[in-house]
Amino acid sequence: MNMPDTMKENIAITDVPKIIVAIDGYSSSGKSTMARELARRISYVYIDSGAMYRAVTLYALQNGLIESDGKIKTQELIEHLPDIEVSFQKNAGKDGVQHTLLNGKDVESEIRSMEVSNNVSPIAEIPEVRQRMVELQQKFGIHKGIVMDGRDIGTTVFPHAELKIFVYAGLHERAKRRWAELQHKGTDLSYEEVYKNLEQRDKIDTTRAVSPLRKAPDAIELDNGAITHEEQMEWLMRHFQLKLEEISNNL
Ligand code: C5P
Repeated sequence: MNMPDTMKENIAITDVPKIIVAIDGYSSSGKSTMARELARRISYVYIDSGAMYRAVTLYALQNGLIESDGKIKTQELIEHLPDIEVSFQKNAGKDGVQHTLLNGKDVESEIRSMEVSNNVSPIAEIPEVRQRMVELQQKFGIHKGIVMDGRDIGTTVFPHAELKIFVYAGLHERAKRRWAELQHKGTDLSYEEVYKNLEQRDKIDTTRAVSPLRKAPDAIELDNGAITHEEQMEWLMRHFQLKLEEISNNL
């Protein structure tokens, strides 16, 4: 379907079939905020894949599957995997934001704790954990119309996603942002602790054997370090609109 240029700006989301938007990037690069807001604006489902790995980590902590020195009882955790159900509920909290459920229980605030942050990347390295999470993530996207953010969404979970974004920002910038968020929530951690946690997660996430954090060759890069939230959203909406135009032209 070829359209005159003047009409192109007016392509409505409903004019083309729903797509998959994959947003990958480093920890605390602001990708979840962008992804959630994009999904809200375009009425797509939003899935925070990091929350899923965090929920598995919380389960492991609650069930004595991580020893005090951080060592994971890997085999036991693998045996427990069929018992771990992660889902999402819209407007579960008074804040109107989507919450993460672990076996039906709202764990949105527990999964954001520093204890979970400190243990999540080694858990996410376990191939069996990844396999189970990826299967679930692919099920969430079966009808498309989804925005998912994570580390391997554009490379492993949805390698055929129509729109792929890779977000990065400097470690200092990300640590500052994360520290301010935690302060706002009343969590009293030093900037150094937050910086070290991000540094360690970056290292594990980029070097693990299975699905390491990588930019997919066809992903569009966004340097999120020095731009405002509104600028990020404008950029993202523009790329989404361009993708719809491209698809519409090829229909
Ligand atoms: O996105 P968030 O920082 O909450 O993710 C927590 C951790 O989960 C990451 O540091 C990473 O180790 C893991 N993760 C992953 N693959 C994803 C999403 C998150 O390995 N798709």
